Amino acid sequence: MSISTPSATVTNYDKLYIGGEWRSPSGSARITVISPNTGELIGEVPDGAEGDIDAAVGAARRAFDDPRGWSGIAPAERAGHLERFATEIEKRKDEFAERVSSQNGMPIGVANQLEAVYPSTLLRYYAGLIGEQKEEVRDGMFGGKVEVQRSPIGVVGAIVPWNFPQTLASFKYAPALAAGCTLVIKPSPETVLDAFLLAEAADAAGIPPGVINIVPGGREIGAHLVSHPNVDKIGFTGSTAAGKSIAETCGRLLRPVTLELGGKSATIVLDDAELDLAAIGNDLFVATLANNGQTCFLGTRVLAPKSRYAEVVDVLTAFAGSMTIGNSLAADTQIGPMATERQRDRVEGYIAKGRSDGGRVTTGGGRPSDQDRGWFVQPTVFADVDNTATISREEIFGPVLSVISYDGDDEAIAIANDSDFGLGGTVWSADPERALGVARRVQTGTIGLGRYIPDPAAPFGGVKHSGMGRELGPEGLAAYQNLKSIYR
Ligand code: NAD
Repeated sequence: MSISTPSATVTNYDKLYIGGEWRSPSGSARITVISPNTGELIGEVPDGAEGDIDAAVGAARRAFDDPRGWSGIAPAERAGHLERFATEIEKRKDEFAERVSSQNGMPIGVANQLEAVYPSTLLRYYAGLIGEQKEEVRDGMFGGKVEVQRSPIGVVGAIVPWNFPQTLASFKYAPALAAGCTLVIKPSPETVLDAFLLAEAADAAGIPPGVINIVPGGREIGAHLVSHPNVDKIGFTGSTAAGKSIAETCGRLLRPVTLELGGKSATIVLDDAELDLAAIGNDLFVATLANNGQTCFLGTRVLAPKSRYAEVVDVLTAFAGSMTIGNSLAADTQIGPMATERQRDRVEGYIAKGRSDGGRVTTGGGRPSDQDRGWFVQPTVFADVDNTATISREEIFGPVLSVISYDGDDEAIAIANDSDFGLGGTVWSADPERALGVARRVQTGTIGLGRYIPDPAAPFGGVKHSGMGRELGPEGLAAYQNLKSIYR
């Protein structure tokens, strides 16, 4: 339900989607959603409590345990449900993009290209994959036949961050649903309004009651979900700190968990790279600044060859300085606000730290003078920093790039690998074979020869402190399946 006020539209929900119906929440607390563009109230929803998580897990458990229900029906039938769900999401794609952009500051152009389309694409991808999965019988080496059965892992707790709330939720629910699992999705409090739209789409698609349940709330109910005795698997995307805490709980409970965490990836510019902004500007944007720098796999450490260091700094300075900063809902905006005031303060804290550590700001470094409200930070480039600086080691999650000098490809690779993280990265060279050779030596979960976005068919995830396990691709489906060997 939406109420128009003189300055903004406030979207309100009073009920939670649990067990296939809209139910009153167990408590009276509310989550208020504040526009990062204006600081105004734009939404209010129930703040889920432990009782709501218990009800949602109970509904998911009953739906899963019904032998004629979701987990027991033929994969082709589930695939049909996934296709219908994709269609209902597509029908709402503009609304999804608008809600996400208005809550987290994602430029609407980015939201239209990703948040509005990735989830339905992924549902259709996994509908295809589960439809194709056949009974597998192997010849045993000791004779006889062994059937390898893939069964759904059970009730899934899916915990999602605010930066790509719909896409990252779909990284979990699309393969989990395809596998035959049921879910409780816990969106981040910053991005709850789009989650209600997802519930509406699931309802309209006729997803059976209890298969998808959505309870918005903070970390306390997230932790309650993680440790709930009736949950069989956790899929988490978020910060490394929260991921470690969740991993500890799951370790204690021997509960399978997939963790997609933070990053501090390298954009490796080789000495033969094309540096004409007219040719590479769009790709550079996707690799370094997309979604206001609030994207986990961005290459925010730019590694520049000593011989062309000044040139790389000049190009990045011109590139970052040319960005159109503005209200995330404006069509021409390239850089919107940080998602929250706290996130803006955090990014500014890192900029101050970069300066006090001796970094040279070549563009940005402050708030844009033409934005008198909202949580805006200028895209900022630091030169004369090395890989030991705090801003080169910690994830900032904002539009801040460090340009680090190296001498020779081996040193570039050594610097790229000298990080606690290993999630993304790109290599820039006029010679694709050379770039490939470098990419193969970088310790990371994904890397592109120039720009890329995670492809539904390719495994996505990190090494080191960037996570455990993989989403997307057949590997993402396997993460929601148990294997059983039946000796025939
Ligand atoms: P966050 O870890 O604070 O919160 C993420 C989600 O986890 C939220 O829903 C939050 O309520 C919940 N949560 C937090 N602590 C919890 C706990 N102890 N137990 C259970 N649930 C808990 O992260 P954020 O600030 O929302 O998101 C930004 C972070 O996410 C960045 O570090 C970013 O790199 C990371 N991220 C990673 C990927 C990836 O695929 N690797 C993708 C996007 C974002």
